[in-house]
Amino acid sequence: KSLEKFNIYASGKINLTLDVLFKRPDDYHEVEMILQTISLKDEISLKLIPRPVIELSSNCLELPQDESNLAYKAAKLMIEEYRLDTGIAININKNIPIAAGLAGGSADAAAVIVGINEMFELNRPQEELMGLGKKIGADVPFCILGKTALAQGIGEKLLPLRPLSGFGLLLVKPPYFVSTKEVYSRLDLKTIQKRPDTLAMIEYIKMQDIDKIASGLCNVLEEVTLKLYPELDFIKKHLVCHGALGSLMSGSGPTVFGLFETVQDARRAAAKINLAGNEIFVSQVE
Ligand code: ATP
Repeated sequence: KSLEKFNIYASGKINLTLDVLFKRPDDYHEVEMILQTISLKDEISLKLIPRPVIELSSNCLELPQDESNLAYKAAKLMIEEYRLDTGIAININKNIPIAAGLAGGSADAAAVIVGINEMFELNRPQEELMGLGKKIGADVPFCILGKTALAQGIGEKLLPLRPLSGFGLLLVKPPYFVSTKEVYSRLDLKTIQKRPDTLAMIEYIKMQDIDKIASGLCNVLEEVTLKLYPELDFIKKHLVCHGALGSLMSGSGPTVFGLFETVQDARRAAAKINLAGNEIFVSQVE
């Protein structure tokens, strides 16, 4: 039994904290971070096609439209894993900026996994789907889980936290891409100046204390990316000058976000800031 068509959203994420603990023997970095789903979303539509192929299309021409697309990989994995005797056409309406630290690619892969599970009424448990997602990327399991969570390991070990809701965000995406790989390779673990207090942050989240959460925002990759692009520090300060309770770079960047008590506050700030040349998104935690 299966549906001919299925539409699903793919939500981006921000980091409220990001700590890198050590480099593992397999060359991956052991991280500890608090991740938060945001309301900025791609729209994914899935359609059955009778031939055994995966077709991909998107409104975003910069996106790879071949097997390297994470949404394509997710569809291929689902078709193989559950021996689905079909082809799938995937359309991605991209709203989340690419290579921006917002896990847009992982979100698309997660949406395809969840969408195919629904479409074919596979009824596989979320944990199993998250396990499959990990094969595609470390952030995919979180994108399947969503909301507010502590991520450990390479990002795949997840502990759900009390979900935040209602807080506003102003996202500022500068007009360049940052390679996650390059940022990690430039990170010197011995010289990290400021690390997040992850345990304290978990408490602040439990209390839903927005002022404390804002003061606890911390990302060890900021030092690296801010050295490459010093204007990111200006953007952070500019957001705070215009009412953000705190600001931080998400992931390996370059997107910087400001945190606000409400989405109206974020919208008011958006009308006042002067950051021409950057893409600005009013969003909220979700
Ligand atoms: P993270 O926060 O997990 O580091 P990111 O937001 O920095 O992720 P993505 O937008 O996920 O980065 O894209 C990273 C790379 O993956 C890009 O260079 C892009 O070409 C490639 N990619 C493959 N598939 C997708 C997809 N569906 N959407 C976006 N990027 C994709």
